[in-house]
Amino acid sequence: MKQEIRRAEKFNTLGELAASIAHEVRNPLTVVKGFLQLMQQKEKGENYQYLTLVLGELGRAEAIINDYLSFAKPQYEKKEKFLIKGLLLDVQQLLEPLALKQGVELRSILDSDQLLLADRDQFKQAIVNIIKNAIEATNNGGEVIITLEEKNDMVRIRIKDSGKGMTKDQLSRLGTLFYTTKDKGTGLGTMVSIRIIESMNGKISYRSEEGSGTEVTIQLRNPDEVGRNDEK
Ligand code: ADP
Ligand code: MG
Repeated sequence: MKQEIRRAEKFNTLGELAASIAHEVRNPLTVVKGFLQLMQQKEKGENYQYLTLVLGELGRAEAIINDYLSFAKPQYEKKEKFLIKGLLLDVQQLLEPLALKQGVELRSILDSDQLLLADRDQFKQAIVNIIKNAIEATNNGGEVIITLEEKNDMVRIRIKDSGKGMTKDQLSRLGTLFYTTKDKGTGLGTMVSIRIIESMNGKISYRSEEGSGTEVTIQLRNPDEVGRNDEK
């Protein structure tokens, strides 16, 4: 009995419990998807249609989990020191295939060697969701630029796209749970990003104009937690 209570206490919040469950659900989903894909390759009859449908729904479940915890490990948040520039380059590399598929040029101008003390995986999730949205909003031939710069004790990350932008009304609904304008959207990504940045005491703001693009600005100001990489 005692042990059960202790185990229950491992999760500080319901959010952590949800993250843990999502994490566990992910593995069986991946296995099921793999076998269904295998079956689909061999199937020529009527079942082919069903398999396509099932795989589509499975993809949906996967997207929901991915927006929520592609990188974040459940349980405790673990803070570590890392180069912001390094993380942004990581994410750029990770999303290059998506950009390529969309015909979008993904560039970065990273002008800072600042370190950040934060949960790296969570921060990565926040940045991935934002850049993914930027790419998805942009048409063939457009571009997404990631910039990093520092000012005094502050670090500023900007993600600017030349995509379709948002109307005032759309902008005001951004970040509310399940708000999406996409066929296969989850309406989770932005909310998750905003929450993560705010939990780091950072600020995040959106500027957008319909037809010309969107700019997301993240400001991290925390003199105790942000340091320069002097160890060379
Ligand atoms: P999803 O991407 O699954 O739709 P999100 O929470 O990530 O969910 O985004 C919610 C909505 O916000 C998107 O469907 C889109 O309409 C809008 N949005 C977010 N980022 C951008 C952007 N950079 N440009 C245009 N619209 C955006
Ligand atoms: Mg999204």
